[in-house]
Amino acid sequence: MADSLSELIALYGGTFDPVHYGHIKSVIAMAKAAQLKQVIVLPNNVPPHRPQPDASSEQRKTMVQLAVAGNPLFTVDCRELERDTPSWTVATLETFRREYGPEQPLAFIIGQDSLLTLHKWYQHEKILSLCHLLVCRRPGYPLTLPEPGRQQWLEDNLVTEAHLLHQSPCGSIFLADTPEYAISATEIRTRLANNSPCDDLLPDSVLDYIRREHLYQS
Ligand code: ATP
Repeated sequence: MADSLSELIALYGGTFDPVHYGHIKSVIAMAKAAQLKQVIVLPNNVPPHRPQPDASSEQRKTMVQLAVAGNPLFTVDCRELERDTPSWTVATLETFRREYGPEQPLAFIIGQDSLLTLHKWYQHEKILSLCHLLVCRRPGYPLTLPEPGRQQWLEDNLVTEAHLLHQSPCGSIFLADTPEYAISATEIRTRLANNSPCDDLLPDSVLDYIRREHLYQS
């Protein structure tokens, strides 16, 4: 059992094609709400049978590193990129569970849109036995789950007090009232392909890298 508020470790997975302020600012707000000291960002490997990201694994990793550089909240972990297999979140969580042991409070951060589709994730029913779920707001998505039984599942596992997340290894869902950022990687790729400005959507360091690498051009 954790006895210190510093012990909850949060993981944040995504394709990050490219990483943007909707990711970074939401997670910083979540860190404040959930009293997180450490967030491990996990760029995922997109399996060959799925539509491939525009940027390579190496480029997506570099963009994430640039976006979080200098912020001690974040570290970047490339275990999903280094695997050839699909990035099943449950499989990744199991590797962290093995490393940190059964008592370590672990959390996985997602956006509201991902909460709505979580029931489609591979072995999703195992997720809460491996970690807590921390959900950031994202505009345009409802906060109630329409699929049968899912709203009850959400309400059964919801906690409203962040300190409870630090006192058990897994099993709870925390919906934080984080600011809403109407930003998506899709929108950024479209704007870049159309030569439209997107300076307010992602860090300058990432945008400079995108331009240097000639990414997302039509
Ligand atoms: P795409 O537009 O290519 O689908 P995306 O912008 O949704 O990408 P992902 O890398 O797929 O970004 O998302 C990684 C995680 O970040 C997911 O849990 C997603 O819900 C969350 N997320 C992405 N954008 C936002 C946002 N604007 N606000 C809150 N959460 C977000």
